[in-house]
Amino acid sequence: MRIGIDLGGSKIELLALGDAGEVLLRRRRATPQGDYPGTLQAVGELVEAAERELARSGHVGVGTPGAESAVDGLIKNANSTCLNGKPLRDDLQALLQREIRLANDADCFALSEAIDGAGRAAQVVFGVILGTGVGGGIVVRRQLLQGVNRIAGEWGHNPLPLLDEEDLPPARCYCGRLGCVETWLSGPGLSGDHLRHNGETLAPEAICGRADAGDQACEQTLVRYERRLARALAVVVNILDPEAIVLGGGLSNIERWYDTVPRLWSAHIFSDRIDTRLLRNVHGDSSGVRGAAWLWNDQRGTR
Ligand SMILES: [Zn+2]
Repeated sequence: MRIGIDLGGSKIELLALGDAGEVLLRRRRATPQGDYPGTLQAVGELVEAAERELARSGHVGVGTPGAESAVDGLIKNANSTCLNGKPLRDDLQALLQREIRLANDADCFALSEAIDGAGRAAQVVFGVILGTGVGGGIVVRRQLLQGVNRIAGEWGHNPLPLLDEEDLPPARCYCGRLGCVETWLSGPGLSGDHLRHNGETLAPEAICGRADAGDQACEQTLVRYERRLARALAVVVNILDPEAIVLGGGLSNIERWYDTVPRLWSAHIFSDRIDTRLLRNVHGDSSGVRGAAWLWNDQRGTR
């Protein structure tokens, strides 16, 4: 059995998968706020309760915000800040007395969609989260590609290519760099762009709703967004040449991208023919916890 844990800022979710990927059990509880020992204990209790209930033990994979440093194994860049600077994997291994696999939430998303989601037929999948932040993950033949620096797929902190007048001036990203893809393509990036051009603060859902109702300013905000998304994804296609790019996160629910972006990206992709498909995710909010369980894809299910 494979057990996935999605360690979120507000909730911790557990999913147990059987050998064929069937769901055996789902549990969730609130994340102890700002309490690292309490968070460890909550994960331990969830796993123990699941194994007791199912009367077997499992391989445990954990999806976290932020990333595990390749230098010292400590968590960094997590928005659940009590995890930062902590040896999360070591502590969970000691607590649960077994090897634990850990990956960031965008990697888990990509893995889940590549194994039995929208990209299940594809050999190479690029998974993208367009949400509060922008993350990415790469899966090759159903295995996560983590990379020597463990940053494979961190496309959100590339600079947006081919800046046009409508993109100026680029914004400073929280990471310290200028004009990161995330500053344009996250939800706050979309709202911020609308504010810069129109002087009004609107949530992404409101911008979409008004554009659908014929509001030209909102329509133009979406047009700028899809041009940027197409340029930024064209860079990925030129390097990785994936069969499928799967979108997740709140902004993946905007239906028009799947039509407009592939029409726009062809101008920037160095190929006479483009077979890369842009796909909406299948598993939605469950992708993180599913992908965490699939970190043990190379193992038989039962320990
Ligand atoms: Zn950045």
